[in-house]
This record gives sequence, structure tokens and C-alpha cells, in this order.
Amino acid sequence: MNAFPSLKLIDGKATAARVLAEVREQVDSLRRGGMQPALAVVLVGQDAASQVYVRNKVLRAAEVGIRSLEQRLPSDTEQADLLGVIEQLNRDPAINGILVQLPLPGHIDEHQVLQAISPLKDVDGFHSANVGGLAQGRDVLTPCTPSGCMRLLRDACGELRGKHAVVIGRSNIVGKPMAALLLQADCTVTVVHSRSHDLPALCRQADILVSAVGKPRLIGADWLKPGVVVIDVGINRIEEDGRSRLVGDVDFAAALPLAAAITPVPGGVGPMTIAYLMKNTLLALDLQQQAAQRERTACHSPC
Ligand code: NDP
Repeated sequence: MNAFPSLKLIDGKATAARVLAEVREQVDSLRRGGMQPALAVVLVGQDAASQVYVRNKVLRAAEVGIRSLEQRLPSDTEQADLLGVIEQLNRDPAINGILVQLPLPGHIDEHQVLQAISPLKDVDGFHSANVGGLAQGRDVLTPCTPSGCMRLLRDACGELRGKHAVVIGRSNIVGKPMAALLLQADCTVTVVHSRSHDLPALCRQADILVSAVGKPRLIGADWLKPGVVVIDVGINRIEEDGRSRLVGDVDFAAALPLAAAITPVPGGVGPMTIAYLMKNTLLALDLQQQAAQRERTACHSPC
């Protein structure tokens, strides 16, 4: 029996299901108008984990009615050929979102590939135009995991304004965009990392603690202020009691009595990432329609 009150748990699976239902509704309405959003997923090589991720993305897209196009390329694909595939997808008006599954084989320059994706189709939000747009607080495509975390936080806390949020980790995929989104939501934001001094003391200041480190159970009870809301992005596989299991960065059992609310691992942030990929595909379509409208208006206005 679960001795802990379930209300404290932030249920990522249930929230992701709600997000996907919202997406499904919007896709149905678009399809009634004769338009079906489409997502292209590009996979280079045979990496086993990447194949699972791609399969899950394609399955989820089908569930919500988004058309998906898989482009599987051999691991010895030349960078120029990959850039050619992306250029073709950029030009294809029937494709709304482009995702290149990472990591790429070592001979390919990841940055150059991500920069080749049209910012309006960049559903991962990794293009520097979108990174810059997020920093400026503009309405752009933002990375899926932190966007999913924001939805969990808004549902759990309601108003975020004025809360002190501490983000552990400063990666381009999670930590930095998470900090930018929290700042946009009027939080006071502290970002800490492997070179920060006295992490427990810094984290004890947090009303909201987001951990994106990748170290199993790094965060114990002495890192937490009573009443904190904890979002654990970390996914770590450990061997325990003779079996393999997934745990977060936070020592869940130690945190639960202290936290006002907390995400479990698994079943917390994980399901939100893919749900926000679907949401971003719809947002990409919307941004493309707005851009096309602006272009039409510009063409008709006198020079
Ligand atoms: P990175 O390895 O890119 O970044 C980890 C960050 O944690 C770095 O900024 C690093 O600091 C910091 N760090 C490392 N060790 C410590 C420490 N002891 N104390 C404080 N900070 C530390 O990882 P990602 O951001 O890509 O991912 C983080 C975790 O989130 C992983 O477990 C990953 O699997 C998971 N993840 C989960 C997703 C989901 O859908 N739920 C999606 C994406 C990631 P420094 O910069 O100084 O090196």
C-alpha cells in the first residue's frame, strides 16, 4: 500500500494524456478543414535507444492524428547528404515539424545540422533563432522537456510569479531553457551546476526545485525546504536489490515527506516530453501560417 498521500504526486502520465487529448482535438478540427499536420523524424544510424525513441514518437503522432514521416539513413551518411534531406523537408510545405534524433554519428557536426532546420519547423527548439527568441521572451518553439515541466508546474502551483526557482543543470536541452521559461513566468531564478559551491544551501532556498543532472538520488532531504515543489527531470538506471530500475536525481522517499508536490521517476517528466513534441508540431504549423499571412500582406501592400 502507498503510505504517501497521492495528492502530493505530480502525475506526468495523466497530465501528458490531457495534453495529448488537447492536441488530438485541435488536429481533428484542422483535419475537418482539410489540413493534417505532419512531423518528419530523421534518424541516422542504428543506435538502439534512438530507435526506441523514434518509434515512440511516431506511435504517439499516429495516436493524435499527426502524420509522421520517418527518414532512416545509414550510419555512414555524409553530412552533406543529411543536410540535403533537411533542406528538402524545409522546402516541403506539407511538413510542419522536423526532428533530427540525437545523438548523431561522430563524423557529423550536430550544431551545423540543427542550424540547418528551418526555425519555423524546429520542433525541438534547438535552433539558435529559437534559443535567442526564448531569451528575448518571444513566441517561439521551445524545447519539449522544459516546456513539459512548465505545464506540470503551472498545474501543480497555479501562479508562479515571484517564486524562487532553483534549476540544477545548465545543458542546452534542459537546464538553460528551463531557467529562461521560469524567468518568463516571473520567477526569481537561480541556476546551479557542477562548479557551484554548497549546492544543498542554494537548493534549500528554492520554492521550486528543478533537477536536470543525471546523478541517481543526488538530492537528499537536507537539500529541500519544507513545502518545496520538486520537478525531477533526471532519468538514471541503477541496479538495486538484484534488479535494474529507473530513479531520478532526487531521493524520492526522503523528499516526499518534505515536498508540497513532487514528480516521480518514471511517470513524471518523461511522458511530458513526447506530449510537448506533438504540441510543438501544432505550434509550428500555426507559426508557419502566421508567417505565410505576413508574406501575403507584405506582397499586397504598396512598396
Ligand atoms: P547534461 O549531462 O547535458 O547536463 C547535466 C548538467 O548537470 C550539467 O550542467 C552539469 O554541470 C550538471 N551537473 C553534473 N553533475 C553535477 C553535480 N554533482 N552537481 C550539480 N550539477 C551537476 O544532461 P541533460 O541536461 O541532457 O540531462 C539531465 C538529466 O535529465 C539526465 O538524467 C537525462 O537522462 C534526463 N533527461 C530527461 C528527459 C525527460 O524526458 N525526462 C529529457 C532530457 C534529459 P556542468 O555544466 O558544470 O557540467
